[in-house]
Amino acid sequence: MILTLKTGAKKNEIEALTNKIKKLGFTPHISRGAVKAIIGVIGEGENKFKEIFESYDIVESATPIVKPYKLVSREFKKENSVIDIDGVKIGGKGVVVMAGPCSVDTKENLFTCAKAIKNSGAHILRGGAFKPRTSPYSFQGHGVAALKILAEAKKLTNLPVISEVMDTRQVEVVARYSDIVQVGARNSQNFDLLKELGQIKNPIMLKRGMANTIEEWLMSAEYIVSKGNRNVILCERGIRTFENSTRFTIDLNAIPVVKHLTHLPIIVDPSHGVGVRDYIPAIALAAIAAGADGIMVEVHPKPTEALSDGMQALLPVMFDKMMNDLRKVAVAVGRFA
Ligand code: PEP
Ligand code: MN
Repeated sequence: MILTLKTGAKKNEIEALTNKIKKLGFTPHISRGAVKAIIGVIGEGENKFKEIFESYDIVESATPIVKPYKLVSREFKKENSVIDIDGVKIGGKGVVVMAGPCSVDTKENLFTCAKAIKNSGAHILRGGAFKPRTSPYSFQGHGVAALKILAEAKKLTNLPVISEVMDTRQVEVVARYSDIVQVGARNSQNFDLLKELGQIKNPIMLKRGMANTIEEWLMSAEYIVSKGNRNVILCERGIRTFENSTRFTIDLNAIPVVKHLTHLPIIVDPSHGVGVRDYIPAIALAAIAAGADGIMVEVHPKPTEALSDGMQALLPVMFDKMMNDLRKVAVAVGRFA
Protein backbone atom coordinates (compact mmCIF):
# COMPACT_ATOMS: atom_id res chain seq x y z
CA MET A 1 0.00 0.00 0.00
CA ILE A 2 1.30 3.46 -0.88
CA LEU A 3 0.20 6.36 1.26
CA THR A 4 0.72 9.64 -0.57
CA LEU A 5 0.93 12.45 1.96
CA LYS A 6 -0.40 15.94 1.47
CA THR A 7 2.21 18.66 0.96
CA GLY A 8 3.09 20.28 4.24
CA ALA A 9 2.51 17.18 6.39
CA LYS A 10 4.21 17.88 9.72
CA LYS A 11 6.86 15.71 11.35
CA ASN A 12 4.70 14.85 14.39
CA GLU A 13 1.75 13.95 12.17
CA ILE A 14 3.92 11.65 10.07
CA GLU A 15 5.27 10.09 13.25
CA ALA A 16 1.74 9.42 14.55
CA LEU A 17 0.90 7.70 11.27
CA THR A 18 4.05 5.59 11.16
CA ASN A 19 3.45 4.53 14.76
CA LYS A 20 -0.03 3.38 13.78
CA ILE A 21 1.39 1.45 10.82
CA LYS A 22 3.83 -0.32 13.14
CA LYS A 23 1.10 -0.99 15.69
CA LEU A 24 -0.92 -2.75 13.00
CA GLY A 25 2.08 -5.01 12.36
CA PHE A 26 3.49 -3.41 9.18
CA THR A 27 6.77 -1.74 8.30
CA PRO A 28 6.64 1.88 7.11
CA HIS A 29 9.16 2.94 4.45
CA ILE A 30 9.22 6.70 3.95
CA SER A 31 10.37 8.20 0.68
CA ARG A 32 10.55 11.96 0.28
CA GLY A 33 10.04 13.05 -3.32
CA ALA A 34 10.68 16.51 -4.73
CA VAL A 35 7.14 17.63 -3.90
CA LYS A 36 5.47 15.02 -1.72
CA ALA A 37 6.42 12.37 0.78
CA ILE A 38 5.05 8.88 0.46
CA ILE A 39 4.95 6.00 2.90
CA GLY A 40 5.12 2.41 1.75
CA VAL A 41 3.17 0.17 4.12
CA ILE A 42 4.82 -3.19 3.77
CA GLY A 43 3.54 -6.46 5.14
CA GLU A 44 0.81 -8.95 4.45
CA GLY A 45 -2.86 -7.99 4.30
CA GLU A 46 -2.32 -4.23 4.59
CA ASN A 47 -5.04 -3.51 2.04
CA LYS A 48 -7.83 -4.19 4.52
CA PHE A 49 -6.68 -1.19 6.56
CA LYS A 50 -7.08 1.22 3.62
CA GLU A 51 -9.91 3.14 5.31
CA ILE A 52 -8.01 3.52 8.56
CA PHE A 53 -5.04 5.03 6.70
CA GLU A 54 -7.33 7.32 4.73
CA SER A 55 -8.87 8.60 7.94
CA TYR A 56 -5.61 10.40 8.74
CA ASP A 57 -5.77 14.05 7.72
CA ILE A 58 -2.32 14.09 6.16
CA VAL A 59 -3.09 11.14 3.87
CA GLU A 60 -4.03 12.27 0.39
CA SER A 61 -4.51 8.77 -1.02
CA ALA A 62 -3.98 5.13 -0.13
CA THR A 63 -3.24 2.97 -3.16
CA PRO A 64 -2.56 -0.77 -3.12
CA ILE A 65 0.64 -1.91 -4.89
CA VAL A 66 -0.39 -4.74 -7.16
CA LYS A 67 3.10 -6.02 -8.01
CA PRO A 68 4.63 -8.77 -5.84
CA TYR A 69 7.65 -6.54 -5.30
CA LYS A 70 6.76 -3.30 -3.58
CA LEU A 71 9.62 -0.98 -2.60
CA VAL A 72 11.57 -1.48 -5.83
CA SER A 73 8.52 -0.90 -8.02
CA ARG A 74 7.86 2.23 -10.05
CA GLU A 75 4.52 2.36 -8.31
CA PHE A 76 6.32 3.03 -5.04
CA LYS A 77 8.76 5.55 -6.48
CA LYS A 78 8.27 7.33 -9.77
CA GLU A 79 11.69 9.01 -10.11
CA ASN A 80 14.78 7.03 -11.03
CA SER A 81 16.98 6.14 -8.07
CA VAL A 82 20.44 7.64 -8.45
CA ILE A 83 23.16 5.93 -6.44
CA ASP A 84 26.16 8.03 -5.54
CA ILE A 85 29.50 6.29 -5.01
CA ASP A 86 32.14 8.87 -4.09
CA GLY A 87 30.65 11.26 -6.65
CA VAL A 88 30.10 8.62 -9.36
CA LYS A 89 26.37 8.67 -9.96
CA ILE A 90 24.67 5.51 -11.22
CA GLY A 91 21.17 5.97 -12.63
CA GLY A 92 21.50 9.62 -13.64
CA LYS A 93 22.18 11.09 -17.05
CA GLY A 94 25.78 9.90 -17.08
CA VAL A 95 26.58 6.40 -18.24
CA VAL A 96 28.86 4.58 -15.81
CA VAL A 97 31.60 2.16 -16.86
CA MET A 98 32.99 -0.47 -14.50
CA ALA A 99 36.04 -2.32 -15.76
CA GLY A 100 38.86 -4.52 -14.55
CA PRO A 101 40.00 -8.11 -14.42
CA CYS A 102 37.71 -11.04 -13.69
CA SER A 103 39.89 -11.89 -10.71
CA VAL A 104 42.70 -10.00 -9.04
CA ASP A 105 45.95 -11.89 -9.75
CA THR A 106 49.15 -9.89 -9.24
CA LYS A 107 49.48 -6.39 -7.85
CA GLU A 108 51.39 -5.38 -10.97
CA ASN A 109 48.69 -6.58 -13.37
CA LEU A 110 45.92 -4.93 -11.37
CA PHE A 111 47.76 -1.62 -11.13
CA THR A 112 48.51 -1.64 -14.88
CA CYS A 113 44.89 -2.46 -15.60
CA ALA A 114 43.51 0.16 -13.19
CA LYS A 115 45.68 2.92 -14.66
CA ALA A 116 44.76 1.93 -18.23
CA ILE A 117 41.02 1.85 -17.67
CA LYS A 118 41.15 5.13 -15.80
CA ASN A 119 43.03 6.76 -18.69
CA SER A 120 40.34 5.52 -21.06
CA GLY A 121 37.60 7.05 -18.92
CA ALA A 122 36.26 4.20 -16.76
CA HIS A 123 34.59 5.24 -13.51
CA ILE A 124 34.80 2.14 -11.30
CA LEU A 125 37.39 -0.63 -10.97
CA ARG A 126 36.21 -4.23 -10.74
CA GLY A 127 38.21 -7.19 -9.45
CA GLY A 128 37.15 -10.56 -8.08
CA ALA A 129 38.52 -11.75 -4.74
CA PHE A 130 36.07 -14.55 -3.94
CA LYS A 131 35.31 -16.32 -7.20
CA PRO A 132 32.26 -18.49 -7.89
CA ARG A 133 33.71 -21.17 -10.18
CA THR A 134 31.84 -24.00 -11.81
CA SER A 135 34.65 -26.42 -10.96
CA PRO A 136 36.02 -26.81 -7.43
CA TYR A 137 39.42 -27.41 -9.07
CA SER A 138 39.49 -23.99 -10.76
CA PHE A 139 41.14 -20.95 -9.17
CA GLN A 140 38.89 -19.77 -6.33
CA GLY A 141 40.25 -16.23 -5.93
CA HIS A 142 42.91 -14.75 -3.67
CA GLY A 143 40.30 -13.75 -1.07
CA VAL A 144 41.21 -11.04 1.43
CA ALA A 145 44.69 -10.60 -0.11
CA ALA A 146 42.97 -9.63 -3.37
CA LEU A 147 40.68 -7.17 -1.58
CA LYS A 148 43.74 -5.49 -0.11
CA ILE A 149 45.35 -5.12 -3.56
CA LEU A 150 42.09 -3.71 -4.83
CA ALA A 151 42.11 -1.14 -2.03
CA GLU A 152 45.68 -0.15 -3.00
CA ALA A 153 44.60 0.25 -6.62
CA LYS A 154 41.79 2.49 -5.42
CA LYS A 155 44.31 4.69 -3.61
CA LEU A 156 46.49 4.82 -6.69
CA THR A 157 43.74 5.79 -9.13
CA ASN A 158 40.97 7.25 -6.98
CA LEU A 159 38.53 4.87 -8.66
CA PRO A 160 35.85 3.35 -6.41
CA VAL A 161 35.98 -0.45 -6.45
CA ILE A 162 33.50 -3.31 -6.76
CA SER A 163 34.01 -6.93 -5.71
CA GLU A 164 31.82 -9.97 -5.27
CA VAL A 165 30.59 -11.53 -2.05
CA MET A 166 29.56 -15.19 -2.12
CA ASP A 167 28.64 -15.99 1.44
CA THR A 168 27.19 -14.30 4.53
CA ARG A 169 30.52 -14.91 6.32
CA GLN A 170 32.33 -12.71 3.77
CA VAL A 171 29.97 -9.73 3.96
CA GLU A 172 31.89 -7.80 6.61
CA VAL A 173 35.28 -8.04 4.93
CA VAL A 174 34.05 -7.41 1.37
CA ALA A 175 32.03 -4.41 2.56
CA ARG A 176 35.11 -3.04 4.35
CA TYR A 177 37.33 -3.04 1.26
CA SER A 178 34.86 -2.64 -1.56
CA ASP A 179 32.71 0.43 -2.29
CA ILE A 180 30.07 -1.60 -4.12
CA VAL A 181 29.34 -5.17 -3.10
CA GLN A 182 28.50 -7.46 -6.00
CA VAL A 183 26.10 -10.40 -5.85
CA GLY A 184 26.88 -12.81 -8.67
CA ALA A 185 24.41 -14.60 -10.91
CA ARG A 186 24.81 -17.81 -8.93
CA ASN A 187 23.84 -16.14 -5.67
CA SER A 188 21.04 -14.02 -7.01
CA GLN A 189 18.51 -16.07 -5.04
CA ASN A 190 20.61 -16.73 -1.96
CA PHE A 191 18.00 -15.11 0.23
CA ASP A 192 19.93 -15.23 3.49
CA LEU A 193 22.82 -13.44 1.80
CA LEU A 194 20.44 -10.84 0.35
CA LYS A 195 18.89 -10.22 3.77
CA GLU A 196 22.34 -9.70 5.25
CA LEU A 197 23.25 -7.24 2.47
CA GLY A 198 20.07 -5.34 3.23
CA GLN A 199 21.61 -4.40 6.54
CA ILE A 200 24.85 -2.85 5.33
CA LYS A 201 25.47 0.63 3.98
CA ASN A 202 27.37 -0.18 0.77
CA PRO A 203 25.49 -0.10 -2.52
CA ILE A 204 24.82 -3.61 -3.82
CA MET A 205 25.07 -4.63 -7.46
CA LEU A 206 22.68 -7.53 -7.92
CA LYS A 207 23.25 -9.66 -10.98
CA ARG A 208 20.38 -11.48 -12.61
CA GLY A 209 20.43 -15.22 -12.06
CA MET A 210 21.08 -17.02 -15.34
CA ALA A 211 17.67 -18.71 -15.15
CA ASN A 212 15.69 -15.98 -13.42
CA THR A 213 12.75 -14.10 -14.85
CA ILE A 214 12.77 -10.34 -14.45
CA GLU A 215 10.13 -10.68 -11.76
CA GLU A 216 12.24 -13.14 -9.76
CA TRP A 217 15.21 -10.81 -10.11
CA LEU A 218 13.19 -7.86 -8.80
CA MET A 219 11.97 -10.01 -5.89
CA SER A 220 15.63 -10.58 -5.01
CA ALA A 221 16.20 -6.83 -5.07
CA GLU A 222 13.17 -6.44 -2.83
CA TYR A 223 14.85 -8.71 -0.26
CA ILE A 224 17.73 -6.25 0.02
CA VAL A 225 15.65 -3.06 -0.02
CA SER A 226 13.06 -4.37 2.45
CA LYS A 227 15.85 -4.87 5.00
CA GLY A 228 16.79 -1.20 4.73
CA ASN A 229 19.43 -0.89 2.01
CA ARG A 230 17.89 1.12 -0.82
CA ASN A 231 21.06 1.35 -2.88
CA VAL A 232 20.61 -1.54 -5.25
CA ILE A 233 21.96 -1.57 -8.82
CA LEU A 234 20.64 -4.30 -11.12
CA CYS A 235 22.98 -6.04 -13.56
CA GLU A 236 21.86 -8.01 -16.61
CA ARG A 237 24.60 -10.53 -17.38
CA GLY A 238 22.94 -12.94 -19.80
CA ILE A 239 20.53 -15.80 -19.42
CA ARG A 240 20.59 -19.46 -20.47
CA THR A 241 19.07 -20.13 -23.85
CA PHE A 242 19.53 -22.88 -26.48
CA GLU A 243 22.16 -20.75 -28.23
CA ASN A 244 25.70 -21.95 -27.64
CA SER A 245 27.87 -19.84 -29.92
CA THR A 246 28.18 -17.36 -27.07
CA ARG A 247 28.49 -18.06 -23.35
CA PHE A 248 25.00 -16.84 -22.40
CA THR A 249 22.44 -14.64 -24.18
CA ILE A 250 22.30 -11.02 -23.10
CA ASP A 251 18.66 -10.13 -22.63
CA LEU A 252 18.60 -6.63 -24.05
CA ASN A 253 14.80 -6.75 -23.76
CA ALA A 254 15.27 -6.62 -20.02
CA ILE A 255 16.56 -3.04 -20.16
CA PRO A 256 13.33 -1.24 -21.16
CA VAL A 257 11.27 -3.73 -19.16
CA VAL A 258 13.29 -3.08 -16.00
CA LYS A 259 13.17 0.68 -16.62
CA HIS A 260 9.39 0.43 -16.80
CA LEU A 261 8.93 -1.76 -13.73
CA THR A 262 11.45 -0.34 -11.28
CA HIS A 263 13.19 2.89 -10.29
CA LEU A 264 16.49 1.06 -9.72
CA PRO A 265 19.39 1.60 -12.14
CA ILE A 266 20.45 -1.16 -14.53
CA ILE A 267 23.95 -2.04 -15.69
CA VAL A 268 24.77 -4.59 -18.40
CA ASP A 269 27.73 -7.00 -18.22
CA PRO A 270 28.48 -8.10 -21.80
CA SER A 271 31.67 -9.92 -20.73
CA HIS A 272 29.93 -12.80 -18.96
CA GLY A 273 26.89 -12.59 -21.20
CA VAL A 274 28.85 -12.96 -24.43
CA GLY A 275 32.09 -14.62 -23.30
CA VAL A 276 33.96 -13.96 -26.56
CA ARG A 277 36.35 -10.99 -26.54
CA ASP A 278 35.69 -9.78 -30.07
CA TYR A 279 31.91 -9.66 -29.71
CA ILE A 280 31.80 -7.81 -26.40
CA PRO A 281 32.16 -4.14 -27.49
CA ALA A 282 29.17 -4.37 -29.87
CA ILE A 283 26.90 -5.55 -27.08
CA ALA A 284 28.24 -2.92 -24.69
CA LEU A 285 27.22 -0.24 -27.19
CA ALA A 286 23.84 -1.87 -27.79
CA ALA A 287 23.17 -1.88 -24.04
CA ILE A 288 23.75 1.86 -23.81
CA ALA A 289 21.64 2.48 -26.91
CA ALA A 290 18.83 0.49 -25.28
CA GLY A 291 18.88 2.65 -22.15
CA ALA A 292 21.20 0.91 -19.70
CA ASP A 293 22.75 3.13 -17.04
CA GLY A 294 26.18 1.65 -17.58
CA ILE A 295 28.22 -1.41 -18.33
CA MET A 296 30.66 -3.70 -16.57
CA VAL A 297 33.43 -5.22 -18.68
CA GLU A 298 36.42 -7.42 -17.99
CA VAL A 299 39.78 -5.98 -19.03
CA HIS A 300 43.23 -7.52 -18.52
CA PRO A 301 46.61 -6.18 -19.67
CA LYS A 302 47.89 -9.76 -20.17
CA PRO A 303 44.93 -12.07 -20.71
CA THR A 304 47.22 -15.12 -20.95
CA GLU A 305 48.24 -14.51 -17.32
CA ALA A 306 44.62 -14.13 -16.12
CA LEU A 307 43.60 -16.73 -13.54
CA SER A 308 40.00 -16.70 -14.74
CA ASP A 309 38.09 -15.63 -17.86
CA GLY A 310 41.19 -14.62 -19.86
CA MET A 311 39.39 -15.48 -23.12
CA GLN A 312 36.81 -12.77 -22.61
CA ALA A 313 39.07 -10.04 -21.21
CA LEU A 314 39.40 -7.00 -23.46
CA LEU A 315 42.93 -5.74 -23.99
CA PRO A 316 43.33 -2.14 -22.80
CA VAL A 317 43.57 -0.94 -26.42
CA MET A 318 40.23 -2.60 -27.24
CA PHE A 319 38.69 -1.10 -24.14
CA ASP A 320 39.94 2.33 -25.15
CA LYS A 321 38.31 2.04 -28.57
CA MET A 322 35.10 0.78 -27.02
CA MET A 323 35.03 3.81 -24.70
CA ASN A 324 35.38 6.18 -27.65
CA ASP A 325 32.47 4.51 -29.42
CA LEU A 326 30.44 4.35 -26.24
CA ARG A 327 30.72 8.09 -25.69
CA LYS A 328 29.23 8.68 -29.13
CA VAL A 329 26.36 6.26 -28.52
CA ALA A 330 25.67 7.83 -25.13
CA VAL A 331 25.40 11.29 -26.68
CA ALA A 332 23.16 9.93 -29.45
CA VAL A 333 20.65 8.76 -26.83
CA GLY A 334 20.77 11.94 -24.75
CA ARG A 335 23.35 10.85 -22.20
CA PHE A 336 27.08 11.17 -21.65
CA ALA A 337 29.89 8.83 -20.59
C1 PEP B 1 31.79 -11.82 -12.20
O1 PEP B 1 31.34 -10.73 -12.54
O2 PEP B 1 32.94 -11.95 -11.77
C2 PEP B 1 30.97 -13.04 -12.34
C3 PEP B 1 31.34 -14.19 -11.80
O3 PEP B 1 29.86 -12.86 -13.07
P1 PEP B 1 28.48 -13.71 -13.04
O4 PEP B 1 28.05 -13.81 -11.61
O5 PEP B 1 27.58 -12.85 -13.86
O6 PEP B 1 28.75 -15.02 -13.67
MN1 MN C 1 34.67 -13.34 -15.03
